[in-house]
Amino acid sequence: MKVFKFGGASVKDAAGVENVRRIVAQETEPLVIVVSAMGKTTNAFERGVNASWEGRPDEAVLEYDKIRAFHYVVADQLGLSDLFDSSITSQDIVNGAVMPDNYDEFYDQVVCMGELISSKILSAYLTKCGIANELLYMPQLLITDKTFREAKVDYEESRERIRNRIFGSTSKVFVAQGFIGGTIEGYHTTLGREGSDYTAALLANFLDAESVTIWKDVPGILNADPRIVDDTVLIPELSYREAVELAYSGAQVIHPKSIRPVENKKIPLYVKPFNDPTSSGSVICETDRKVDVPVYIWRKNQLLITMRAKDFSFILEESLSHIFDIIKRHRLKVSLIQSSAVTISVCVDKTRYVTDAIRELGDAYAVTYNENLSLLTIRGTTPEILKREQAGRSIMLTQTTRRTARLVIKEEMPE
Ligand code: ASP
Ligand code: MG
Repeated sequence: MKVFKFGGASVKDAAGVENVRRIVAQETEPLVIVVSAMGKTTNAFERGVNASWEGRPDEAVLEYDKIRAFHYVVADQLGLSDLFDSSITSQDIVNGAVMPDNYDEFYDQVVCMGELISSKILSAYLTKCGIANELLYMPQLLITDKTFREAKVDYEESRERIRNRIFGSTSKVFVAQGFIGGTIEGYHTTLGREGSDYTAALLANFLDAESVTIWKDVPGILNADPRIVDDTVLIPELSYREAVELAYSGAQVIHPKSIRPVENKKIPLYVKPFNDPTSSGSVICETDRKVDVPVYIWRKNQLLITMRAKDFSFILEESLSHIFDIIKRHRLKVSLIQSSAVTISVCVDKTRYVTDAIRELGDAYAVTYNENLSLLTIRGTTPEILKREQAGRSIMLTQTTRRTARLVIKEEMPE
C-alpha cells in the first residue's frame, strides 16, 4: 500500500486532475490518494465564511457562486457535467445555514466542502477513465475531538475505522479528503491550514504503508523558496529530525505535523514534482546524511510581542508560565522566544486570536508589539552568510546558535 497526496496546486484545474490520473495510472500497487481542495478554494471558502459571520450574506453568496462556477467548469472540462446538483443555489445555502455561536465550528462545517468537492471530482474522473476506485468519507473515518479548526485526531478510533474500511474492501484505489475529519457526534472538523500532508502521513501510519509521496509544484525539498531566491538547490535526502526542524521553522514544503506519524513507523516520505513524475525528488527517511548546504526558511506574517513587568520586577519562571498559559489559551503559534532581565519577547504567527491575547497580556504586563514582520531562519549558516543577509535590512532581533541564525525582519514576504 502506498499513499499519494496531491495538494491544491496539483489539482488547480482540469489539466491538473488529468495529470493526477496519469500518475495514478502508472501504479500497480494498492493506493490511497489524499487530495486537497482545488487551487485556492479553501481561501475562497474562508472569505465566504467571514462574510456570513460578519453579517454580509450577499458577499458570501457571491463567493460561493464563484466557487461553484469554478468547479462546474472543471467538471465540465472533464466530461462530468452531471456530477453536481445545480438546483440548490448559493442563496439557499446561505439563507438555510444555521449559524452556531462559535466561529471555528461554523468555519469547519463550511470549509470542509472544498475537499469534499475535489475528491468527488477526482474519484468520478478516475472511474470514468477506467481506474476503479472508492471514494472515502473522512469525516466518518478520521475521528477527532471538537477543537474546531485545529482538531486533535483520536489515533485509536481512527486507526480502527480506517483499517476496517480499507482492508475490508476489495478495491485497490481509494480517494480520500485531506485536511478534514469529524467528531463521533458527526460534526465536521479541520486539522489546521495545509493539513492534507498530515492526513496522508496519518493514513500511512494507520495502514502501515510502504511510503508516502507528496506531489508538489516544486522539484522536491529545496534549500530556499524559489519565489524568493534565484539559485536554489535540491536536498535529495534528509532525516526525519532535520525535516521537523525545517517544517517548524516555516518551510512551506511540508506540514510540521506530518513528520511524526511517518517517523514512528519509519515510513519514507517522498516529495516529488507532479509535472515530472519520474524524477527522484527528495526523500525524508531514516538517514545519517547531513544537509550540506545552508537552508533558508521564511516564516511570514509574524508579530513580535514584548512584555515588560509593570513594576520593573521580573521573575522569569513565573512570568513564563503565566505568559504561555495565555498564549496557549488563545492558540497562538510561537516561532521564537527571547528574554532579557526585564522583558520577554515572543514572535507569533498573526492569527485572528492575536488581539485578544495581547489584550489579556496587557492586563499583567506593559506590552508593545510590531506587526508585518518575517522570520528568516538560516540553518547551516556562517558568519559571512549572516552578514550578507543582515545587510540593508531592518532587523528587529537576531538569535544565533552555532549553526543556525534567526532574524526577525521588518519586511513582508511575497505570498
Ligand atoms: N485545503 C486546505 C488548505 O488550503 C488543506 C491543504 O491544502 O492541505 O489549507
Ligand atoms: Mg493547499
